Amino acid sequence: MHDIAAKVQAAGVVGAGGAGFPTHIKLAAAADTYLVNGAECEPMLRTDQQLAACYPELLIQGLTYAMAATGAQHGIIALKAKYQAAISALQPLLPPAIRIEILRDIYPAGDEVITIWLTTGRRVPPGGLPLDIGVVVNNVQTLINVAKAMQGEPVTTKTLTVTGAVSNPVTVTVPLGTALTDVLALAGGVTCSQPAYIDGGPMMGKITDLASPVTKTTGGLIVLPADHLLIKSKQQTVESVLRIAKTVCEQCCYCTELCPRHIIGHELPPHLIVRCVNYNAVGQPQVLQSALTCSECGVCEAYSCPVGISPMRVNMALKSQFRAVNIRYQGQLGPADPMAEHRLIPSARLVGRLNLKPWYPPEAPLQSELYQPDRVILPLRQHIGAPAVPVVQAGDTVTAGQLIATLPAETLGARVHASITGVVEQVSGQAITIRKGGIHHD
Ligand code: SF4
Ligand code: SF4
Repeated sequence: MHDIAAKVQAAGVVGAGGAGFPTHIKLAAAADTYLVNGAECEPMLRTDQQLAACYPELLIQGLTYAMAATGAQHGIIALKAKYQAAISALQPLLPPAIRIEILRDIYPAGDEVITIWLTTGRRVPPGGLPLDIGVVVNNVQTLINVAKAMQGEPVTTKTLTVTGAVSNPVTVTVPLGTALTDVLALAGGVTCSQPAYIDGGPMMGKITDLASPVTKTTGGLIVLPADHLLIKSKQQTVESVLRIAKTVCEQCCYCTELCPRHIIGHELPPHLIVRCVNYNAVGQPQVLQSALTCSECGVCEAYSCPVGISPMRVNMALKSQFRAVNIRYQGQLGPADPMAEHRLIPSARLVGRLNLKPWYPPEAPLQSELYQPDRVILPLRQHIGAPAVPVVQAGDTVTAGQLIATLPAETLGARVHASITGVVEQVSGQAITIRKGGIHHD
């Protein structure tokens, strides 16, 4: 068992879905169920569903190794019914201990707490972890990386969807550290005059710039016009969010009635949190502290609130205040809303509400070729935990897959490997730059 976690650690595998939690830590735990989260519920992203369709053997191998490491007797692959190619590819290969669970096309089916509830009926307690109820969760790309790690192949590439206002929406595989400018060019460039860029999905992704490199946690690249409502909302300052909340919240409760965490029995009542904040934190401290359990799914901001308030951003501001003074939420799990399943948001309705239809291509086909950049910038922290420590110097020649940054024993984090063959151009406190074929002198 320990051998699997050790090989996965050596390969630098981290959660590819965005969190970047080192996978070997999850593999060192004991669980009865290992869940592959293939919901990919963010509208527009097309990565995991295509990886599952193209590499079903690797996915099942990765899951089988993960089940062996954790002692899980049950493996579940959660997919939406519309991912028919993935379902057809996986179905004939399933061993008896692994089953596919079909999800409706709803948001946020891929929030791991919701995926667990939809596929097993179990509910993660507020502030708790899936492991608290015997479940470990990874996404499709992470488990494919686990299978590769067991073959001695470290994580050196990332597959991501490039979509929105681009000429040819596409899903590509690039070496880690590739500049987003290069990735954008693979989609034929932008089709709007003033573009803005989101790393990840439209709901949970963050504004990014093209100078950033692709990392192990890059969720995707979405291009939208700079005046699109999603871009404006992501750019809003917290001061502006709080001012609007204070001025116009009508306490309609829609944010709470549709909050995915609230409906499965977590306390989290966004309308009461907004009310408390608007009245100088008057209210139960525990109500305010329940903001710590917000998943930042964006439903309250982008879908529920009729007057443009973002309870999510209020929660995020509270979270950083509470975390700064080590406050933890202590509430218990309550009864679930009997209508909970029907309160999750149909994806098509969400796309309409977000005004994404003009930028919403039906496909972003997966390209099989690996892009070959001239230069990569590999951040030393592409994961939760401490930054990796360089083991190479400027001028060193490295080959793709070679270890270039490691971690002291017992330190939470992940190793970094060269993603192309070339010469180390620069080693800084933040990143290692490798240029293909030699040192570049500007
Ligand atoms: S949905 Fe908007 S207006 Fe209604 S209670 Fe929540 S924040 Fe206030
Ligand atoms: S972002 Fe809003 S809807 Fe989502 S979990 Fe947080 S409070 Fe609930």
